[in-house]
Amino acid sequence: MTDWGARAECLLSQVAACSEPGPGVTRLPFTPEHRAAIDLLQTQMEEIGLTVTLDHAGTLIGRSEGPPGSRTLLMGSHQDSVREGGAYDGIMGVVLPLLALDKLRAEGIELPFSVEVLAFADEEGVRFPTALVGSRALAGTFDDAVLSMTDTQGVTLREAMACFGLNPEQIRTLSRNPEDLLGFVETHIEQGPVLEREERPLGVVSAICGIERHQIEITGETGHAGTLPMSGRRDALVAAAAIVAEVDRMGQSTPNLRATVGALTVEPNVVNAVPRRVTLTAEFRSPDDATRSAAGDALHHFMQNLAADRKTAINAEKTYAQMAQPCDATLSAQLAGRGTDKGACGLLLPSGATHDASAMADLCPIAMLFVRCRDGVSHTPEEFAAKDDMGAAIDALASFLTALARKDSENS
Ligand SMILES: [Zn+2]
Repeated sequence: MTDWGARAECLLSQVAACSEPGPGVTRLPFTPEHRAAIDLLQTQMEEIGLTVTLDHAGTLIGRSEGPPGSRTLLMGSHQDSVREGGAYDGIMGVVLPLLALDKLRAEGIELPFSVEVLAFADEEGVRFPTALVGSRALAGTFDDAVLSMTDTQGVTLREAMACFGLNPEQIRTLSRNPEDLLGFVETHIEQGPVLEREERPLGVVSAICGIERHQIEITGETGHAGTLPMSGRRDALVAAAAIVAEVDRMGQSTPNLRATVGALTVEPNVVNAVPRRVTLTAEFRSPDDATRSAAGDALHHFMQNLAADRKTAINAEKTYAQMAQPCDATLSAQLAGRGTDKGACGLLLPSGATHDASAMADLCPIAMLFVRCRDGVSHTPEEFAAKDDMGAAIDALASFLTALARKDSENS
């Protein structure tokens, strides 16, 4: 009997070797490491009997052709990593659906629809200050302006793609027709500790969280730490501390809300001076847009009162907002239901991080399968998913495909 999890582990370790030297995996888009990875994946795809193409956004596509006129299910994730990242984030979501297709092939099961396994070039946005290039191209939401963005060497995205043998001017032709598609299913490590705490190998994603960010500037008055009396001080950092505590309190007390102050600067930042000016960020994430925007509004209200109490000027601006992307209920139920005989997929959880599926949601119904990762860590060389958990994911994906095939034949 094939140990599918072990096969996943073996293939992932081969792809992990396609990396810049140094700790962990560094595989940036449109580089020799990217080329090595897709060469390896292409060989695997061809062995499984898929027809392989590379589109003009650098997405490697392995296609299993269904009957004429049938629709296509898209599966996949990104091939790229962060600098000194791990061997699972992204690439595991390419390898596991490939092996699920291979498992069905070994069992002699033919699907009544086409399947494409996609390896997107650039999701992380590490090399260029943009991300989700391949998924946005398919969704028809790719903005040509990003082609002029440069990496740290001054190479534009347009030049990097051309050097890779792609024609970036053709990206706008890549958009897919939603009517041809059954949906997009992305498998990914959880990048959090929930599945591990719940002792579950797999979970199905309910929604990808929306995000909003606020840039906050507090201006008070500086003075000598020893000579300025406590009464009447206009200490900008004391006001900032109240904001940090309030943001955390909101996150602790509101279901489905993540609330974080992640960046803060202090001026003059001197041991014996009262802080004059502080800038900080507040970020809210939630699978529910109303919860998220209510948090932003509540923080602004809190800061108005705080400014008066602390006699400081507080300017706050919402600098970024991204809507939540709910996963498709039908696809998600099929993904979850198939695993219940093993208790594998019973857990429904939101994704706090953005994924290719976020961009694909503009195109077609999406669903996501999360795989437990050790200590919830990602974006480090320590990132790890166990082979048995990956084997369970391959089982779940293969069962999902056969369930979808049954439903498809009932409908036709
Ligand atoms: Zn990822």
